[in-house]
Amino acid sequence: MDTRSLDRLGDEIAELSAHLDAATARLLDLIREFDARGGWNTGFRSCAAWLSWRVGLAPGAAREHVRVAHALGTLPRLAQALARGELSYAKVRALTRVATPETEERLLAVGRAGTAEHVERIVRGWRRVDRQAEARESARQHASRALHVYPDADGTVILRGRLTPDVGALLMQALAAARETLYQQDRAKEPEGDPPTMVQQQADALALLAETALHHGIDPGAPGERYQVVVHVDADVLADADQPGQSVLEDGARVPAGTSQRLACDASRVVMRHAPDGQVVEVGARTRTIPPALRRALHHRDRGCRFPGCGVRFGQGHHIRHWAQGGPTTLSNLAVLCRRHHRAVHEEGYQLDRQPNGELRFRRPDGQLLPEVPPPREVRGDPVKILRAQHDAEGLVLNARTTTPGWLGERLNVGWAIDVLHPLAR
Ligand SMILES: [Zn+2]
Ligand SMILES: [Zn+2]
Repeated sequence: MDTRSLDRLGDEIAELSAHLDAATARLLDLIREFDARGGWNTGFRSCAAWLSWRVGLAPGAAREHVRVAHALGTLPRLAQALARGELSYAKVRALTRVATPETEERLLAVGRAGTAEHVERIVRGWRRVDRQAEARESARQHASRALHVYPDADGTVILRGRLTPDVGALLMQALAAARETLYQQDRAKEPEGDPPTMVQQQADALALLAETALHHGIDPGAPGERYQVVVHVDADVLADADQPGQSVLEDGARVPAGTSQRLACDASRVVMRHAPDGQVVEVGARTRTIPPALRRALHHRDRGCRFPGCGVRFGQGHHIRHWAQGGPTTLSNLAVLCRRHHRAVHEEGYQLDRQPNGELRFRRPDGQLLPEVPPPREVRGDPVKILRAQHDAEGLVLNARTTTPGWLGERLNVGWAIDVLHPLAR
């Protein structure tokens, strides 16, 4: 074996790797800008979903690219080290899981000194300390939960308390819903006197919550039943969004016709006939727009959302031609779409049809086809030469030693390293 030629081969691998890392820094800059400007928001769920679709990254790798791109936006030293080919993408990826602007400098030193494996182990140890700190904080919050309810001298009742963030969000959501209900009823009445202030409304909302809880029994219900949406919609509106007519939620809020079409696409349906004066004259039986057996066949065939690049497992049955417009409820007229993409089709102007050969065809609102898999961009010329030339032009000098860590073979003591480096280590 000619060791000299193998050394040269090894050097070439190392040098090209440094070029690729430097180019990856540029790629991440582009991804960050594309995400910030919403370039993927053309029917895709996220920047990662778009990346996966457009350049063929595996979904997990695409999410990591977006995450690292974001992290580097606030970590200039790590970003620069990647751009100069000094740290590999693998190291930067690991370090950005824990680095903050305060700890960036120390972690950069770890990346420079250690191998990729050292970096992985330090980051794992670091996260353990972070998680312990988080768990301590969340346990502290949970332990400090309290609600004091006590009568004042004049007989009014005083409330004071502290809730964990999730329970607090639940309470605020419930208060907002109760306030909405009360406020809407108030608007319907003749205005007399000053409208109640926000804090007065909050007090009224809490009273309504208490009444409602006692009236309905204290039963949070199964997750699927907790939130139900009832839409009242005129048959004409359902068939043609341009028709005037009503399309309102149970609480009186109006929704766009596209929304009621989406909600009706795959739902339980009760048909009521109204006399011209608004009186209900006939109520039909509740039926599913898509019967259970057909739904099973549909999910078996589609295996998740059919929108290009999506593939979310759970979805709704979409009528390609709406049933209210005479579209049949048959497998060929149905397609599974996730909630996000069902909205895209009904409310954002995306179009979907089935071609004679059975293939689905999606179009953006501007009429552009959205292929299931976009054709790859053609690479013209030798990519290695192109990278080298570009980096030369930027004055970036990379060689076979650029990514070599400073490690000299000493044993890594992760526990000691974390104790020294992590600000929260005890
Ligand atoms: Zn639909
Ligand atoms: Zn989808």
